[in-house]
Amino acid sequence: MKTIGMLGGMSWESTASYYKTINEGVRESLGGLHSAKIALCSVDFDEIEKLQHQGRWDDTANILADAARSVEAAGADFLVICTNTMHKVAGEVEAAISIPLVHIADATAEQLVADGVKSVGLLGTKFTMEQEFYKSRLAERYGIDVIIPTQDERDTVHAVIYSELCVGVINDESRESYIDVIHHLAERGAEAVILGCTEIALLVGQSHTRIPLYDTTKIHAAKAVDLSVSEL
Ligand code: GLU
Repeated sequence: MKTIGMLGGMSWESTASYYKTINEGVRESLGGLHSAKIALCSVDFDEIEKLQHQGRWDDTANILADAARSVEAAGADFLVICTNTMHKVAGEVEAAISIPLVHIADATAEQLVADGVKSVGLLGTKFTMEQEFYKSRLAERYGIDVIIPTQDERDTVHAVIYSELCVGVINDESRESYIDVIHHLAERGAEAVILGCTEIALLVGQSHTRIPLYDTTKIHAAKAVDLSVSEL
């Protein structure tokens, strides 16, 4: 079994989901008492969040590059960054290590392509929804059209992530808002919606809507399990 390298803590609420999902996946795959081999470096999200909102992405890249080096030194065979947003600096992180980086947008896009989805809605932080690093990858590498929520909807989705989900608050009213946004994306042509923030599945799941949801945490974790157990 290969060792999965994880950059976590962004936020730890979703890193906990990764940890659990990965271990469940390895147990399902190998049975018995098997559990995942993981090298995890978990950063302080307060520091990252402040730098994000100040636009100091180079500084976030340095922190994550250092963390990635420590994960590689701890024996990881490949790396997953357990947040969509911080894939904004995926290139810098990748350049700092010699093990492969498993990109969350690639794992998600592979699933969308396999399911024949051509037009998808995207929920995430404003960085993920509004900037090009994520949407362009889906469009240019996989030919997937990405529809993002309206400005007001983006403000709501972003605020709920940072002021509720990342601090462990799950609110019914926020869930209703998210479901409205998902349905509006479908009305505007989205065949499915990407939960493009690793905490969103803590709030909304497939039981809440008939629009197909693509949970990036689950997809990314499953990809890590597959790679880990593929060559024993
Ligand atoms: N975990 C979230 C994501 O997947 C947001 C936290 C962050 O900014 O990293 O984008």
